[in-house]
Amino acid sequence: MPEGDTIFRTAAVLRAMLVGKRVTDARAQAGPGLRRVPDLSRVVGAVVTSVEARGKHLLIGFDSGLTLRSHMRMRGSWHRYRPGEAWRLPASQARAILETPDSVAVAFNTPTLELLNDAGLARSRALHELGPDLLGEAFDADEAMRRLRERDDVALGEALLDQRAVAGIGNVVKSEVCFVERLDPWAPMRRFDDDELDRALASARRLLRANLGGGARVTTGMRGRGRELWVYGRAGRPCRRCGAVISTARQGELARSTYWCPRCQLTRPEPHGGVADT
Ligand SMILES: [Zn+2]
Repeated sequence: MPEGDTIFRTAAVLRAMLVGKRVTDARAQAGPGLRRVPDLSRVVGAVVTSVEARGKHLLIGFDSGLTLRSHMRMRGSWHRYRPGEAWRLPASQARAILETPDSVAVAFNTPTLELLNDAGLARSRALHELGPDLLGEAFDADEAMRRLRERDDVALGEALLDQRAVAGIGNVVKSEVCFVERLDPWAPMRRFDDDELDRALASARRLLRANLGGGARVTTGMRGRGRELWVYGRAGRPCRRCGAVISTARQGELARSTYWCPRCQLTRPEPHGGVADT
């Protein structure tokens, strides 16, 4: 799943390329996971006014009052090309194509594609439900904390990925944040105090912001192949902090891989919740 930093970067690239440009051609095509597509001929002739990342949604605004919402989910991506340039993915995987006089923007494998008017945008449930955006200008940490606290029985590793609690964390950052803050991704949220969750959010924001520049994602501060990440993708290798063997397992409804150090991120014993042993 693309992380918030990836979508944020994509938005920056598309913004530089599209804003102020008139759409000369636009089309959408259905495919696996996307059966109904919007009629993009409605934006032909319109000028792009904004490109914005909100959580994992990418919003492209037009001066005609319409907004194209796409969601990246696991495999979605936007590419930019010059007119006539060969695409890096098969045309059959293209879901939306926007052409301007000097560029072509192509959305590949996006499972969500929707053309909204202002009212629809304001009503959009998918956008409404999004938690505070870690990469937003004014990240609301209190609101993120409140939403995380509503998930007391959910494991930390799942709660951090829930974009309705806090938007922007993907699978890599999830594992890395838990490691950096020495938090057990398998423990339920109720086991963490506010200070721990605050630190997790601050770490996530820091890691996402540090990776806005592009290139390979780095969380360790060390560039170079195989040195960039603390735990993600390192199952069976020694922990960079304590030498214990890094574990991995699938977690949550979506069975996303979680990586952790079983020694640095030890689960604390469950308190006895007031039930007296007799
Ligand atoms: Zn360790």
